[in-house]
Amino acid sequence: MPRAARDADGARIRARVERITLLLEGEFGRPRRRPDPDLVGSLVATILSQNTSDVNSGRAYELLRERFSGWGEVERANVRSIEAAIRPGGLAKIKARRIKAILREIRAQTGGLDLGFLRKRPTDEVIEYLRGFNGVGTKTAACVALFDLGREVVPVDTHVHRVVGRLGVVGHPKSRDATYEALQPLAPSRRALSLHVNLIRLGRAVCKPREPRCPECPVRLECDHGRGRSRSGA
Ligand code: SF4
Repeated sequence: MPRAARDADGARIRARVERITLLLEGEFGRPRRRPDPDLVGSLVATILSQNTSDVNSGRAYELLRERFSGWGEVERANVRSIEAAIRPGGLAKIKARRIKAILREIRAQTGGLDLGFLRKRPTDEVIEYLRGFNGVGTKTAACVALFDLGREVVPVDTHVHRVVGRLGVVGHPKSRDATYEALQPLAPSRRALSLHVNLIRLGRAVCKPREPRCPECPVRLECDHGRGRSRSGA
């Protein structure tokens, strides 16, 4: 495709993603950041949030903070006692081992338990650094970058992957990481948080895995799947 046509195509897709972002804000509002100054805590909280609900992971994090006086104590603790503290969050055995290992690795790399140096690193480096820990994938790294470092990245979880695939704005990527790569250049300026949070809200409330409720969806006119269903009368 000639460059001018490619540019025009890219501009059309970005404009479409911007319309989707604004429609979602009209439906769900514009979320605000509530960054945690403790980046180690943010990373631990994000690990605890993997494969469980916000309520359960929030409870597990609270219990962990209550049980131990600081991250140094968690680092030195027996894995079983970490596991017992975070049990309400699910997958406690795996997560306890990972959290302890990550704390030890942070100390080995930095001489302490502080990830504040990441604030001065470019976003790509932040993501790569965090992905270097066992149990930290692109989504977890991008969540820390977005929510706690204020970076303009759109993490892709299972809801975002499914909804974006149905919208058809970046084709139908097979993996969440492929959706992540395709989506990053399309987020409207200063709207990464809004797009991420509201795609999840849409995925939970309307664009459900089995039966998307297209007739009541705020972005149906921008959605390939929704338009296809209207044409077929579904
Ligand atoms: S129109 Fe349907 S498929 Fe498209 S985003 Fe909305 S609920 Fe999902």
